[in-house]
Amino acid sequence: MYDLFAQPLTVIPGIGAALEKRLAARGVRCLGDLLLHLPKDYLDDRCIQPVDRLTEGVSARICGRIVSRQARGYGRKRQVILTLADNSGQITLNFFHSGYMMTDARLCEGREISVRGIVERWRGNWQMNHPDWCVIEAFQPGFQPVYASLAGLGGKRICTLIRHVLTRVAAAESSLDHVLEDTWHLPSLGQALKRLHMPDTLDAEERAKALVRLKSEEVIVYLHLMREKKKQADCPALSLQGEQLSEQLLNSFPFPLTPAQQQVWGEISGDLQSGRRMHRLLQGDVGAGKTWVAALAMARVAGCGYQAALLAPTEVLAKQHADTLRELFAPFGLEVALLTGSTKAKLRREIIAGLRGNTLKLIVGTHALLTDDVVFHHLALALVDEQHRFGVRQRWALADKQHDDRNAIHLLGMTATPIPRTLALSLYGDMDLSMMHGMPPGRKPVETRVIAAHKMQPLADGMQRILDAGGRIYWIVPRIDEDEDGVSVDQRVDLLKGYFPAANVLGLHGRMKSQDKQTALEAFASGPCRIIVSTTVVEVGVDVPEAHLIVIEQAESYGLAQLHQLRGRVGRSSEQSYCMLIAGEQISETAMSRLKLMVHTHNGLELAEADLALRGGGDAVGTRQHGDAGFRLLNLAGDAGLIRQWFEALPDFAPDETMQRFWRPFAEATD
Ligand code: ADP
Ligand code: MG
Repeated sequence: MYDLFAQPLTVIPGIGAALEKRLAARGVRCLGDLLLHLPKDYLDDRCIQPVDRLTEGVSARICGRIVSRQARGYGRKRQVILTLADNSGQITLNFFHSGYMMTDARLCEGREISVRGIVERWRGNWQMNHPDWCVIEAFQPGFQPVYASLAGLGGKRICTLIRHVLTRVAAAESSLDHVLEDTWHLPSLGQALKRLHMPDTLDAEERAKALVRLKSEEVIVYLHLMREKKKQADCPALSLQGEQLSEQLLNSFPFPLTPAQQQVWGEISGDLQSGRRMHRLLQGDVGAGKTWVAALAMARVAGCGYQAALLAPTEVLAKQHADTLRELFAPFGLEVALLTGSTKAKLRREIIAGLRGNTLKLIVGTHALLTDDVVFHHLALALVDEQHRFGVRQRWALADKQHDDRNAIHLLGMTATPIPRTLALSLYGDMDLSMMHGMPPGRKPVETRVIAAHKMQPLADGMQRILDAGGRIYWIVPRIDEDEDGVSVDQRVDLLKGYFPAANVLGLHGRMKSQDKQTALEAFASGPCRIIVSTTVVEVGVDVPEAHLIVIEQAESYGLAQLHQLRGRVGRSSEQSYCMLIAGEQISETAMSRLKLMVHTHNGLELAEADLALRGGGDAVGTRQHGDAGFRLLNLAGDAGLIRQWFEALPDFAPDETMQRFWRPFAEATD
């Protein structure tokens, strides 16, 4: 199965190099990736509705004969109007900007077609705008999957491509099929995929089972990897004695450590002296001050003459850490290097030489640190910031850069995605946990409100007040393709420029060149730009203390943990900060109560637990297409039960290399 999954998309007729590239940019690189693009909904196309039984505002499938075709307006922008009749009545079909349809022979008068669309009432007549259509011969009654568009491809096209892939993988098996079928009565992986993409029934239980089967594949592979790593965890490591440098650094901090920081630093320095490998996960809420504890650990290592490396999930964050650490270590004559995907070749060579030659003790970087040619003279400590963004393999990749076989490398993960303890044990059972409770003194909770999408003017007034008081503003747009619903970074930049001509509004998103990203962020952190419009690139770690307002559009499309992370971008000084959650127009009651939790709860762990309770662990199809915490499908809140289940009863089997590689978490694509 997995060797088929790994095949390139170009084996599908109709996918060429250009489309392949576009899909790759959206994280879809092979057949298996495409198969994980699951339908967001299904339409029941078994029943064809007679025109005289239609209901206004509801989607319907109609079959009929074209009795007239007319056009209004000129050129390509012409509106084409078809009248369709069945035995019971007539309906008007409007196609705007569709002049080309006037010459389509399949739409001549007298031809039979089938359409699907939302039924509307207009001047006493039925009509549909831009229905999906096909000639009657091509219409297959059944259940139609509805896909979110992807890299500019519409739902219909995606459906065709996925059906093609399904026929290719139909006969293949996963090595887990037998185990899960016999003991757990779950469908095979192939059946599960077919049930999700081409269902024979819309039975919710069947669908949930198929989804569980798919997700089980991911959990089980993950847990296996983790157990294997755990076996390697308890090995001897360097005992790092010598507190001078970390003591000096601590004394140079502009503030005393909070009690929570003190306690955690005590645990970490205990580990570092113990002579056993440290393998610890530091959980602390957004803004709790984890970076500073990390700096102390790095100082301890460098003070003993060894090397330390800090891995960050995005370039923006890596750069920011490098800046902070450089300032801290400069008085001690210690250089801090920065290595990312966009580091120039010459500088990269110098850095690598410095690491080999041990002239460089401290380095910060993105995944660029994990490539094979980055070799350390004597790496003693690997730190992984925002570790929930990395998969188990990447988290270990740095720690596997062992300098010899005798001593293992200390590993410290940091995360602000607070997950309930039982879940943490299943997910990170291979690590010791440290909790950092409490915030640096003087912080006020971020005042949070949920507002409606159309209330722009009052929002703009509020924004003006923040600007007048010298504050800066984040404006977050959802990470969706522009063609999906018309909201893009550029459009919002234009809109806000109109309202705030003096604020030097800039945009920021993951597909920008790294240099441009950096320039924009710097302009926002301390330059003329007072409003930044961004995707969730800024979600993790970015620290701009002058930002006092964050506006989040379509807030319901994020998980609560993610919203909490985003909100953590403000409230980083003693000023009062605000978070405005803009709710979509058609938001469900559950979604609304989730947003309201944000208003009253400011503690990340409480939020995570409340979210878990609200969703009851049974919400099989989450709000997002992909999973979180570096998983492709798994959703920490929704799938806690499943993770726990497999943690306690892990089937005995060994995932092979292709299988492991496929479930490699998507975190590799940064930003
Ligand atoms: P985290 O990584 O945990 O989200 P950071 O390490 O980025 O948090 O710290 C958040 C902010 O708090 C930074 O602006 C930092 O300067 C500040 N800070 C950290 N520790 C303290 C402290 N003990 N007292 C006051 N401010 C602190
Ligand atoms: Mg941080």
